[in-house]
Amino acid sequence: MLPVIALVGRPNVGKSTLYNRLTRTRDAIVADFAGLTRDRHYGTGKVGPVPYLVVDTGGFEPVRPEGIVRHMASQAELAIEEADAVIFVTDARTGLAPQDHRIAQTLRESGRRVYLAVNKAEGLPASAAAEFYELGIGEPYLISAAHGQGIGSLMDDVLARF
Ligand code: GDP
Ligand code: MG
Repeated sequence: MLPVIALVGRPNVGKSTLYNRLTRTRDAIVADFAGLTRDRHYGTGKVGPVPYLVVDTGGFEPVRPEGIVRHMASQAELAIEEADAVIFVTDARTGLAPQDHRIAQTLRESGRRVYLAVNKAEGLPASAAAEFYELGIGEPYLISAAHGQGIGSLMDDVLARF
């Protein structure tokens, strides 16, 4: 079984752009991994020596808003549960948002290993990362999913334990 890396974050921070960077094959692979939920986007990838499975999560909307009250888990929460590590994607252009704090709290409670990616950082100074320490997730990684910057060192650390 490949290590499963979930991409989590509020809308528009660049999760799907990062997913596309990190994956080579898409979606079709899901059938080969019993036990993973099918209605999220999975793809395999390889940055450096270690192959992995990456999950792009739709967001924190409840899976079935009209459903039974006790089934309020979101796609993102389900993906976090089945992940070996989480990349928490935030946005250097908009800066910290209230929802980032809520997601950080959910991630802390999950007990998963979490890596904090500050996306859209192309052309920004290192100081752009400063406010993101507030999330209490640790060292932020400045990346640009669109321009392919910083992703190698992020993935080196994410995959170092596998
Ligand atoms: P998602 O909702 O988190 O999946 O975000 P998307 O991947 O759909 O991206 C949202 C918007 O941010 C799109 O317009 C992307 O082109 C843009 N975007 C994604 N990554 C970057 C980046 O590294 N730099 C900049 N400037 N824009 C980006
Ligand atoms: Mg998306």
